[in-house]
Amino acid sequence: MNALPSLSLIGLAFAVAGAVTSGCVTEKTANVGGGGSNSSSSGTGGSSTQASEHISEAELTRMTTYLASDDLDGRGEGTPGGELARAYVIDEMVRCGLQPAVGGSFEQPITTGAGANVLGLIPGSDPALSARHVVLSAHYDHLGNCQGDICNGANDNAAGVAIMLGVACALAADPPPQPVLIAAWDAEEPPTFMTDAMGSEFYAAHPVVPLEQTDAVVVLELVGGGLWPGHQGHYLAGAELSPQVATAVWSTPVPEGLLVRRTALHMIEEQPTGHMAWSDYDAFRNRGTPVLMAVNGFNQYYHTPADELATLDLPKMARQAQYALDLMRQLTLGGEKPSFVAEGADYAIDAASTKAMLEDALTPGSGVVDVMGLSSASRSKLEAGLAAVTVLADQLGGGAPASSQDVLTIRGAFMQLFCYTYPMYTEDLCNTM
Ligand SMILES: [Zn+2]
Repeated sequence: MNALPSLSLIGLAFAVAGAVTSGCVTEKTANVGGGGSNSSSSGTGGSSTQASEHISEAELTRMTTYLASDDLDGRGEGTPGGELARAYVIDEMVRCGLQPAVGGSFEQPITTGAGANVLGLIPGSDPALSARHVVLSAHYDHLGNCQGDICNGANDNAAGVAIMLGVACALAADPPPQPVLIAAWDAEEPPTFMTDAMGSEFYAAHPVVPLEQTDAVVVLELVGGGLWPGHQGHYLAGAELSPQVATAVWSTPVPEGLLVRRTALHMIEEQPTGHMAWSDYDAFRNRGTPVLMAVNGFNQYYHTPADELATLDLPKMARQAQYALDLMRQLTLGGEKPSFVAEGADYAIDAASTKAMLEDALTPGSGVVDVMGLSSASRSKLEAGLAAVTVLADQLGGGAPASSQDVLTIRGAFMQLFCYTYPMYTEDLCNTM
């Protein structure tokens, strides 16, 4: 995931500063999050799959430990460390019985740059669905060196690759009706971010499975850790662009303890300075393919040498892997083919999700205010945002249309929270917004 232009967040918050009202909110609401509650009863028939040894905490730790080790020197695109990472991903795919997806090879060289994507196939169990693939993906490259040190990128994105590989192994052992393409993207990070040499962009321009035969693309990005230490939030964006993908999300059971919050791409992308895409989903969304990104947001270790294995929450990572496996099961049942709604948005869900996120942030003991020791001024900022989105969650949830100011208010409250965890910003700066 690439860095936010530093002024965008500030500008956005200034734009909405007049929209939020102050006040202390005491109302305790259900754990909606806009993305299904923490009970599987909110689903429409989803049931948790068997616990799989392939996504055990031990397995995920084994893979992440190697991918985030100094031996790989930060997995820079086109470097020996990047090649070691690629070889490891291929070895794991072979070990789990995936088929090479690129004319007998697992590698798709990126001819517009350096490096290569790794693509493995899990054939589906129903031949009638063989032309309806679902892609599960994560970028395996990282920055190489940064700030004069090796940047191992445990959270960005060794953990995402480990979850992807564990889920791939579990799916290969018990194939779903639809085929699954497992894609480890190279070259997501700068300097190739958002260029035609970005691995996901190169793939979308040169797909091994036609995009018309691709139901949806799931992207794992910045997972395995927390927005702040100990936080169990697991954010999903993109379901607003496809009713069928949204149904799959609602139907996926939530592992005990994981706080699934369904947000939206527009919530993170629309800046006062313009549109800002974030990760590998962009290449597919731009071509009309449904996408879903699972992401935990930028924490204090983002793109620094401190993004190490020790910062990850391994039990949470196992819960995220279980969620990813169950989500993939829901997406590969062979139901109605997902449609794509380019301007899809559900502001009632956005308001409810932001409300739930702010309640998480203000929770005594485990919220960002207590864990990161934020000031009373910061607490007041978050409480003001919560008050504003609580009003909107009620109004919009009751069927009222959202005004453009309402949308800015929701985004502003959302961005205020993320400001406190982003390593480039000081708390004081966040509070001037
Ligand atoms: Zn990154």
